Amino acid sequence: MADEKHRVVILGSGPAGLTAALYSARANLQPVLIEGPQPGGQLTITTEVENYPGFEKGIMGPEMMEIFHRQAERFGTKFIDGEVTAVDLRKHPFELSFDKSTINAETLIIATGATAKLLGIESEKRLMGYGVSACATCDGFFFKDKEALVVGGGDTAMEEANFLTRYVTKVGVVHRRDQLRASKIMQDRAQRNPKIRFIWDSSIEKIYGEANKTGVTGAQLKNLKTGKLDDVKTDAVFVAIGHQPNTHLFKGQLEMDELGYLKVKPGTSYSSIDGVFVAGDAADRVYRQAVTAAGTGCIAAIDAERWLESRE
Ligand code: NAP
Repeated sequence: MADEKHRVVILGSGPAGLTAALYSARANLQPVLIEGPQPGGQLTITTEVENYPGFEKGIMGPEMMEIFHRQAERFGTKFIDGEVTAVDLRKHPFELSFDKSTINAETLIIATGATAKLLGIESEKRLMGYGVSACATCDGFFFKDKEALVVGGGDTAMEEANFLTRYVTKVGVVHRRDQLRASKIMQDRAQRNPKIRFIWDSSIEKIYGEANKTGVTGAQLKNLKTGKLDDVKTDAVFVAIGHQPNTHLFKGQLEMDELGYLKVKPGTSYSSIDGVFVAGDAADRVYRQAVTAAGTGCIAAIDAERWLESRE
C-alpha cells in the first residue's frame, strides 16, 4: 500500500462514503475507502431506521450499513481498516499518512461525518462508560429496571428517551429550554410515552457516583430560570445534544465554517481545493440524514469522476 497512487480515495464509511465508493467503483475508478475510527459510521450506533426510502418496514442501522458495505464491495471497492492521521492537500497527488505509510490520491472524497457532542463537565468525563453515555442503543441494555436521564431537546434526545423505555422504569428528559427542537412526530411519541417526563429549563451541573464502584448514582440539576439547584437520583445519564463534524484533519487547509463544517461550492461537492470533494455530515449542519448523506456521496463520486475526466 505504501506510496501507491489511487484515482479516488474516500475517507469515511457511513452512508456518504459507501455511496461514493459504490458510484466510483461502478465508474471503474477502483476506489480505496479508508474506514476510519467507527466503521459504518453513526448508523452503527442507532436502532431502527424508519425513514430510509426502500426499507418499507424499517431496518436496524448496523444491518443497513452492512448492506451498503457489501454493495460497494461487489463492484471492487478496496477497503482499508484504519485511520488517516495527517493529510497534505497542498501537493498533488494529495498525500495521506496512514499507519506507517503514505498513500497518494488524485482525488479525495471526504466523508468523515460527525461525532456526538458532550456537556464538558468534569464528572461526565470521569463517569463516561460508568453510567454516562452518548449512545442509548449501545448502553441502554445495562440499565434494565433502573432510571435514566437524557439531556437534549432534539430528535436524537427523543429517540434515545423512547428507546431507553424498553429497559428502564423512568426517563427524565433534561432540556435547557421549555420547547423542544425535535420534529413533531418524535415529540408526540415521547410525550405519549408514560415512562418519560420532561424537566424543562434545566441543565446538569454535576453527575454523582464513582467509576468502578457505584457507577452513576444521581445528578445535580439547575433550573436555568430560577437558578435553583436540585439533586435527583438516577442510574444513568445519556447525553444527546447534537454532533460536531470530524474535520480537524483539514484545519488550515480547507475552508470551513465557525463550527468546523467544510464549505462546499453550493449545489456541488467541490471543496476549496481542486480535486477534493466533500460528502455527508462533514459539510452538512442542517439536514444530517442518512439519505442526504448518501445523496451527497453520489454527487461527490460523480464530481470526482468528471474532474478526473477533464484532466485526462
Ligand atoms: P439537534 O437537533 O442539534 O439538537 C440538539 C439539542 O441539544 C437541542 O435541543 C439543543 O438545545 C440541545 N443542546 C445543544 N447543546 C447543548 C448543551 N451544551 N447543553 C444542553 N443542551 C444542549 O441535534 P440532534 O437531536 O442530534 O439532531 C441532529 C439532526 O439529526 C437533526 O436534523 C435531526 O432531525 C436529525 N435526527 C433525526 C432522527 C430521526 O428522524 N429519526 C433521529 C435523530 C436525529 P436547543 O434546542 O436549546 O438548541
